[in-house]
Amino acid sequence: MVLCSCSNVAIIKTSWTDQNLERRFSCCPNVGSDCGTFRWIDPPMCQRSIEIILGLLRARNTLEEDIEEYLQMYREQQELVVQLRIYWVISGSRMVVNVTIGEVEAVFGVCVEDKELSV
Ligand SMILES: [Zn+2]
Repeated sequence: MVLCSCSNVAIIKTSWTDQNLERRFSCCPNVGSDCGTFRWIDPPMCQRSIEIILGLLRARNTLEEDIEEYLQMYREQQELVVQLRIYWVISGSRMVVNVTIGEVEAVFGVCVEDKELSV
């Protein structure tokens, strides 16, 4: 247990700055105090390791953004499917709908009743 200059138990945090990625340090638990206690726990990383980790973090962030974008598209598609089903039930007629979502094209055909519908 390490005490800081103001006699509190120092806490351990992790730096996420570009130059000190995932590097742990101990400091005063009182945020904004003038205690001044600060000590690195982990040694600094070499520049190559920093570049690799930064690249991996950026790649992860891009994937997370892609996932969020696909989830939004999926939710919108589900809403369209619900709207189409409602329309089909209300109209009670035959219709064929071409739906293109992303790179996938699907053809939906429904015949609720045996009515002719000129499209
Ligand atoms: Zn302190």
